[in-house]
Amino acid sequence: MEPSNPHPAAKKLGRILRSSGGHWVGDGFPVQTLFAYSDMGAALSPFLLLDYAGPAEFPPTHERLGVGEHPHRGFETVTIVYDGEVEHRDSSGGGGRIGPGDVQWMTAASGVVHEEFHGRDFAQRGGPFEMVQLWVNLPARDKMSPPRYQSIADSQIPVVALPDGQGSVRVIAGEYAGVKGPALTFTPIHLWDLKLTGGQPFELVVPEGYSTALVVLKGSVRLQGADTAIQAAEVGVFERTGNVLRIERADKVTALLLCGEPIDEPIVGSGPFVMNTAEEIRQAMSDYQSGKMGHLA
Ligand code: MN
Repeated sequence: MEPSNPHPAAKKLGRILRSSGGHWVGDGFPVQTLFAYSDMGAALSPFLLLDYAGPAEFPPTHERLGVGEHPHRGFETVTIVYDGEVEHRDSSGGGGRIGPGDVQWMTAASGVVHEEFHGRDFAQRGGPFEMVQLWVNLPARDKMSPPRYQSIADSQIPVVALPDGQGSVRVIAGEYAGVKGPALTFTPIHLWDLKLTGGQPFELVVPEGYSTALVVLKGSVRLQGADTAIQAAEVGVFERTGNVLRIERADKVTALLLCGEPIDEPIVGSGPFVMNTAEEIRQAMSDYQSGKMGHLA
């Protein structure tokens, strides 16, 4: 996954995306959808969708806040917690509770039924809640493979310091500066959790030809030569050509860098299913209704 072009060429910022408004997923996740495959599926392949939940303050409760039993097929859901706790349980036996810094990488593939709730202890305590859920597509050959669940603790994720006190890169998947992240992926993906503190110009090198997006959660990032800075809850989408992100200024930034080899296959989705054809979507609905994706114990 090294850049195929050894000569540095600036990657141009194409467009900046932002949510047109928020909505609730169940009663636990106040979400802004920062991009979705309905319009960005081809440009951002293999990334399908990104929901940003919070930051929000939840009062203490004994209720279970979240979203009950629902299916997925054909892709992966990657949940990254910044604040609060998320509890998950699925029909393939995967499950667990993740907190700040932890990542849950769930491969739905042929199909799971799962539930997603606030962690019980967090709910009773209340407090700040902030998380991201990213949907990652699978190539057609892997869409019907068995489900898989990777629970990745904060302590397993390597942190690489950027030069000159510019901040740090947490390598969730792929690699940065030769340091590999723990997540197993089906296609080549780099997923970096960035903390940028410096305010001086610096560069991030990525592979030529990959879909690349900078998801800014806090602060703002200005790219060299760009008229507009990428603000909090906005996504900068880069052109495929070039292999260097030239960052002019980034102050007190939390951001995710998504970078992946495009899967150039048709995307047909409906609700919790993302497949390649309409017939496969009909099959997914029928398989879910007839219980072939399993049930929660
Ligand atoms: Mn789900």
